[in-house]
Amino acid sequence: MSLKNYEFWFVVGSQFLYGDEVLETVAKRAEEMASELNNSEKIPCKVVYKVTAKTQKEISDVIADANRDEKCAGIITWCHTFSPSKMWINGFVSLQKPYCHLATQYNAEIPNEEIDMDFMNLNQAAHGDREHGFITARLRMPRKIIAGYWKDENVRERLGGWMRAAVGAAVSRSLKVMRFGDNMREVAVTEGDKVEVQAKLGWQVNTWPVGELVAEMNAVTDSEIDSLMAEYAQQYDFATDDTETVRYQAREEIAIKKMLDKEGCKAFSNTFQDLVGMKQLPGIASQHLMSKGYGYGGEGDWKVAAMTAIMKEMSEGLSGGTTFMEDYTYHLAPQNEYSLGAHMLEVCPSVAADKPRIEVHPLGIGNREDPARLVFEGREGKAIVVSLVDMGGRLRMICQDIECVKPIMDMPNLPVARVMWKVEPSLSEGIEAWITAAGAHHTVLSYDLTAEHMRDFARIMGIEFVHLNKDTKIEKLEQELFISDLVWKLR
Ligand code: MN
Repeated sequence: MSLKNYEFWFVVGSQFLYGDEVLETVAKRAEEMASELNNSEKIPCKVVYKVTAKTQKEISDVIADANRDEKCAGIITWCHTFSPSKMWINGFVSLQKPYCHLATQYNAEIPNEEIDMDFMNLNQAAHGDREHGFITARLRMPRKIIAGYWKDENVRERLGGWMRAAVGAAVSRSLKVMRFGDNMREVAVTEGDKVEVQAKLGWQVNTWPVGELVAEMNAVTDSEIDSLMAEYAQQYDFATDDTETVRYQAREEIAIKKMLDKEGCKAFSNTFQDLVGMKQLPGIASQHLMSKGYGYGGEGDWKVAAMTAIMKEMSEGLSGGTTFMEDYTYHLAPQNEYSLGAHMLEVCPSVAADKPRIEVHPLGIGNREDPARLVFEGREGKAIVVSLVDMGGRLRMICQDIECVKPIMDMPNLPVARVMWKVEPSLSEGIEAWITAAGAHHTVLSYDLTAEHMRDFARIMGIEFVHLNKDTKIEKLEQELFISDLVWKLR
């Protein structure tokens, strides 16, 4: 389902105390607010005004409906007037959808001449929202609180951002991941408790035989390959004459896509250690599938595959790009430190600065024929890298702010897509923080999402979140992680 098809239900709290006229005004304004929010470019999903709630039953009913409705990705509440919170308890304790408290006010300014007690009783979000906030705190509900004027662009941006996280939660809760082969032998960080992950994040992670993929590949027709080759030719520059090698990648892509679609999977992982019956490690095949929104993880890393799919859906409609990534090698010149991210082959062309080139080169790892791959440089700009690790008994998400740069050298003999970035206040400190927090070598890199999106997502899913940024101090981080360890054991 596309982002714009998801709905967020706008539920406005009130009570009978004020009389019908006030309630009618509140309802009319709430409808107007929903409709104006829908006209904003910052709001990626549909806002649907549902009810001005005055009773426990109205609230419980709308929440029961929200829980059942597949299009509903979350609820947004606001109290134009005062809404006694005990009548919200029954509904809130049964709420299963993401929840945002929009602490706003219909009017921006206090009207000096006009303000009287009628005005005060109609426009009392300032104390209505406090009563409302108390009960969600008292119930220990995961909640997003956004305060500010509802027409303010920054408020809309943040509300839209939270919507993206809430849609990420909906995608997560129905996500299926297809694994071809197991995790790379002996690797620890790509492992994880799939039962725990399904309970917490909803992912169904299962394996399919590589032999089944090979059978599917053998059934791909020449005309299917022709039409995918035409798509490659339209989107990429052919920097090779070895058409047969590229056609083999197309065959792999078509077969993988058929298996994914048949099972309803939006992400997949594979490994160079299990390519039995395949001539090439999928290169363009995986890259082009990622550009279409499928998640991918190398070396059997199903966690990063799933997060790639989720973050791609969260960033739908934005133009920066989101990809599977790996910290590969460092440039540690004094005062001039960079990380070079890449992978054996599989970086998504959505992050390319220029038109990617299709090239064929040997691949030392995996003992297969030279694979075709897309080669390009990543674009410049602020981005994040995100890693999900299993700490034993719980999941931790680590998010680091980075700044991607035009690579400071050409690297003409490097035959893979690459992204170069720096970290504030310095790469060395960033590396120390990342390693302290147990971040993996595989990440999802996104130019479109920020730490706020990912924090919102982690809060909704009930997992630990660690944000590494320019203000991160190792001593404080160690202390935070030490305390988190105790806290998460108690939960
Ligand atoms: Mn890797």
